[in-house]
Amino acid sequence: MPQNTPAWHHDGMQNIWLPYTQMATASAALPVVSTDGVRIRLADGRELIDGISSWWTACHGYKHPHIQEALATQLAQMPHVMFAGLVHEPALRLAQRLAALLPGDLERVFFTESGSVAVEVALKMAVQYWLNQGQTARDRFVCFRHGYHGDTFATMALCDPDEGMHSLFGSVFPPQMMAELPTDDALKIGFERMLSTHRERIAAVIVEPLVQGAGGMKMHDAATLKFIAEACQRNGVLLILDEIMTGFGRTGKMFACEEAGVVPDIICLSKALTGGTLPLAATVARRHVFAAFWSDDKGAALMHGPTYMANPLACAAANASLDLFESEPRLEQVAAIEIQLRDELTACANLAGVAEVRVKGAIGAVELSGEIDLEALRRRFAECGVWIRPFGNVVYLMPPFVIDEGDLRTLTSAIHQVLSERAARI
Ligand SMILES: *Cc1c(COP(=O)(O)O)cnc(C)c1O
Repeated sequence: MPQNTPAWHHDGMQNIWLPYTQMATASAALPVVSTDGVRIRLADGRELIDGISSWWTACHGYKHPHIQEALATQLAQMPHVMFAGLVHEPALRLAQRLAALLPGDLERVFFTESGSVAVEVALKMAVQYWLNQGQTARDRFVCFRHGYHGDTFATMALCDPDEGMHSLFGSVFPPQMMAELPTDDALKIGFERMLSTHRERIAAVIVEPLVQGAGGMKMHDAATLKFIAEACQRNGVLLILDEIMTGFGRTGKMFACEEAGVVPDIICLSKALTGGTLPLAATVARRHVFAAFWSDDKGAALMHGPTYMANPLACAAANASLDLFESEPRLEQVAAIEIQLRDELTACANLAGVAEVRVKGAIGAVELSGEIDLEALRRRFAECGVWIRPFGNVVYLMPPFVIDEGDLRTLTSAIHQVLSERAARI
């Protein structure tokens, strides 16, 4: 399909290894040469409207001038310096701003470079929080079916065992406690019993609030999240919220936990933190969590420190991204996207081979039933001029918040079109 394939594409593909991809049979990855606004420009001159914000990161669209300027300034001044024994303004200002934005006393910020590592740090914080208080048996985590928390060993163990990588690596990582989301009374009782039975072993419960992303865009309500938080409190275990996908407006509030009035003990942020420009993540702890590390004992210090942590360029991008949440009407845009997604995706529910349509904030998901040829669907979407990449059994949209009504309609129409074609074959 790609015409005018550049030489770098043809030659370099012999040496690259792509994520989650069977390199022998996958159709060729498209050569991209630039991005602008909500558009991805391919080497052959075609433009695709980005329906998924580059893995849910580019909330302001691509190349927003304010972030570009902040990056240029920071690049000229100091692209990187190590973050031990030295500190710099971009990181400290960002920490202060995140603390001010986050609910409650979530106020101590530890920077890393990816979501998985932010979760790893949260797990370490939780275990060491208990160790520092003399509790040495708290070595288990409670996680939820359909959850996704990353690809490293500790985080893989927290993912859904069927959708995740347990079948490959399950013998290598420690087993964790898998719960159903407590969405009804029976499940509530079961969840509470799990916590009360094993409370002495449990370091923390971890959950993606309101929307479980990579596990299939499963949505639950604020009351369920609130119940989980209260059950954690009743049973004296920590609550970690993984807001790597939901954070920064995606579900309608700046952070999904705000909708439930929940303040977790630890929160993980990444993806949209830099507005989709540079890798950065943050693990933020409440005051009482941090207090357990504050002592004369060097052994009580948090034992983690990635080489590129708090990279100044990435922090500058994140600060500029937060500026945009203040100066441009992002949450209003999310509210408008939510209304339009409901209006325009609902029609897909009537198509053969569609199980359900779900919308929350700027997330629209169409869950499919029956046989699904992901590669064929992905190819068709690209042919329609849109960048939409279904996974598992969902076709979903997570557009940049700056997308206009017409471009969003192009995305929803493409989904209806491609799923109609599929329905005709069923
Ligand atoms: C993407 C994601 C992660 C992992 O982040 P990486 O940067 O890919 O390591 C963890 N948790 C959630 C909820 C995510 O969406």
